Amino acid sequence: MKKTLLVASCFLFVLFGCRTYEAQPFVFEKPVDTTTRPINYQTKKIYEAKGIFADNRFDGARLNDFKHLQNELYQVTIEPENMPINPSPYYAFKLWSTTDKNIQLELNYTDARHRYAPKISSNGKDWTLLADNLVMLAADSVNATLALEVGADTLWVAAQEIQNSTHARAWCDQIAQHSDAQLSVAGKSKLGRDLLLLDIGKGAAEKKDIIAVISRQHPPEVTGYLAMQAFIEEIMNDTPLSNNFRKKYRVLVFPMMNPDGVDLGHWRHNAGGIDPNRDWAVYNQEENRTVANHIVRTAAEHRSDLILGLDFHSTYYDIFYTNKVGSEAIPDFKDYWLQGIDSALGQKSRSRPSYAQTPVSKNWFLKQFGAEGIVYEIGDSTPRDFIEQKGKVSAIEMMELLIFR
Ligand SMILES: [Zn+2]
Repeated sequence: MKKTLLVASCFLFVLFGCRTYEAQPFVFEKPVDTTTRPINYQTKKIYEAKGIFADNRFDGARLNDFKHLQNELYQVTIEPENMPINPSPYYAFKLWSTTDKNIQLELNYTDARHRYAPKISSNGKDWTLLADNLVMLAADSVNATLALEVGADTLWVAAQEIQNSTHARAWCDQIAQHSDAQLSVAGKSKLGRDLLLLDIGKGAAEKKDIIAVISRQHPPEVTGYLAMQAFIEEIMNDTPLSNNFRKKYRVLVFPMMNPDGVDLGHWRHNAGGIDPNRDWAVYNQEENRTVANHIVRTAAEHRSDLILGLDFHSTYYDIFYTNKVGSEAIPDFKDYWLQGIDSALGQKSRSRPSYAQTPVSKNWFLKQFGAEGIVYEIGDSTPRDFIEQKGKVSAIEMMELLIFR
């Protein structure tokens, strides 16, 4: 009798108890091969050329070579992690000199056009845009030459403000000081970096609808990341709206999905040499597999529905990418949300709906959960105070729409 019971309970355990909740594989109309490919690593060192020093020994640096060309003209070489790749020629390095000098520094991208307006900093924290008249574009606008004052003090030069995995951790720690936000690690990246997760909500998580927020699949896309931070900070704000929203909803935030790519100063890919935002179908990459499984498991274990997935990126201008055929749970959400954002900001947002044909996150949210999936893109050069305002406004508009549903 005991033996029968044991066998029966083992059977039931196999059937239900050890059921693992995992993201399903999907076949998209336009699949992408996301098999791991090799990447090139930078040589991390202090480079020296005719009295000027260039340094890439920090997380988020990108500099592949440094040399003196002629007179006061120097050149940095900026190469991608592998090819083919989306043209996002990201650079970041430190410079100094034994004597004060005015130099011209050519950014040589080998196989891409200049894209990011250079920022400079004396401490790696506070950044200013290098004035337009100090940036000279080559006639074919492929390379750019910067006029810089270099001296004994370190001058940081970067494509965007440096926001690496250490900065992400510090920001998460700050958010998690609030009792409604728990910081954990959902798993590890290919090279062992933490995949940070902020789990936001007040009270029992059971059956609460979930909103997923992801950011930094693409390393240089700092402006989208800044909008994501302002968006989350507004959700954590001590206002009646935010407080009630956190009681009603759970928000899962993966602020840095590609920490290897970010810290390695990549243009686009992860340490597996793949664009993570093409791997939301078969999960070949560690980061996609971990995050997708984590979201699926969290929703299943708490009998929750995931209703909305927001993925923050950057491109040449602000735009929202939506699904033409979207969620059935919140069918009108995206239109009202964009209208609300537009009227609060007093300007019309760009948006572009499309069918869910490719293995990107917005389509995965739809396929996996029937959720609304939206890509929230901020322009590379969108003013930082506007990004902050837009992040906050879009959180308020989202909360107002969802709290009354
Ligand atoms: Zn992107």
